[in-house]
Amino acid sequence: MECIFCKIIVGEIPAKLIYDRNEVIAFDDINPQAPTHLLIVPKKHFENAGEIAESDAEILAEMFRVAKELAKGRGLSGYRTVFNTGAEAGQSVFHAHLHLIGGRAFGWPPG
Ligand code: 5GP
Ligand code: ZN
Repeated sequence: MECIFCKIIVGEIPAKLIYDRNEVIAFDDINPQAPTHLLIVPKKHFENAGEIAESDAEILAEMFRVAKELAKGRGLSGYRTVFNTGAEAGQSVFHAHLHLIGGRAFGWPPG
């Protein structure tokens, strides 16, 4: 098994777990881009968000519910949720994950 997030899910690689229920876990990003930077990750391996949608869209909905719950728990009045798909868009880990980032102001458009 080469996938780094699959290894985190089975406990082979440590991570700061924030949430673990049903089909989804969340942990702190190792290289945070904002005061809150969590990764919300399906326990089952999918390459990207589109693949989750095609295979089991309810997991996608659960991921966004978890984002809402965790953002509320941290008192974030606004937050950004991002799926990068493909290397050109900045995806570097090919196990689908939803970035939840907040705690500072963000510019638009993104770089
Ligand atoms: P992507 O670039 O694929 O959208 O996001 C991958 C994210 O995973 C990056 O923000 C990166 O910092 C994070 N990341 C990469 N390896 C690890 C790791 O071993 N542990 C944790 N917690 N985050 C990681
Ligand atoms: Zn994986």
